[in-house]
Amino acid sequence: MSRTSPDRENVAVSSREAFAAWVGEAPEGRKFGQVVVRKLPSGGYEIRHASDAGSENLEVHTNPRDARDISKLTEAGEYRPLKSSPNLRRGWVLRLADDRELASAMNYLYPAAISHWYLLREGRLKTTSFRENAARQSGIYERVRYLSDEAVQNAARACCEDEVCLKKTLWDVDENTPLEMERGRGDIPCPEPCSVFISFARRVRYFEREEENTSDGNALTPGERRDLAALVEAAASGEVKMAREAEFEKPLNQRRMRYRRLTLLPKLRPEE
Ligand code: SF4
Repeated sequence: MSRTSPDRENVAVSSREAFAAWVGEAPEGRKFGQVVVRKLPSGGYEIRHASDAGSENLEVHTNPRDARDISKLTEAGEYRPLKSSPNLRRGWVLRLADDRELASAMNYLYPAAISHWYLLREGRLKTTSFRENAARQSGIYERVRYLSDEAVQNAARACCEDEVCLKKTLWDVDENTPLEMERGRGDIPCPEPCSVFISFARRVRYFEREEENTSDGNALTPGERRDLAALVEAAASGEVKMAREAEFEKPLNQRRMRYRRLTLLPKLRPEE
């Protein structure tokens, strides 16, 4: 059994205390991800969805572990593979006794976010570039090593901007190649490509291979044709039902469509 190192323990305690103090300095509360965290005049803390700021008929929870269930599914009942996606459900409030319970609930809602937030403030957050991360991948993910810089840039724009992930993207392609994108306005840092990004990058590598095998750079690839056909079929039926968040193999996946917007639209509208 592994034991927590003193260093890790220290960061957990320091970040918990710093976060509670930061929240306590703002009587109206602090927005963090999609939640507002507030210190209660009677003692303790409250967390609720930011869109429920003025709501009164909320389901009240007092056990920090309930945050795990709250964060698990979207409003539509779909599993949330990425807790920093802007699809946290509404309708609940967590009332917590102290900063330990606050940190525990926050770690279910946004895993590791408080520690990363604290380390960034302290100037001690280490980042890992895409190339470093890709070099560690094995098995079916090994192929992400072969992504071009341009494909990494487009994958990050499609996968990591605020419309689909509320973290602030701090990592780069490599130490000499910064990501050129909207890195995010929120307070939760992202120091390293996550598993959802790597899975998406694997799919993007397929797309790039198809591009390489298509002799005319302006011709549509087989995958692009399939995605367009699926979109037309869905729209014609009157219901465009999007694939789940991490179902990148399906045409109507939002991140996949965002990638197509970056790479397919210029082919369809070359004059723009
Ligand atoms: S790698 Fe991208 S999608 Fe994953 S947590 Fe970071 S910013 Fe979000």
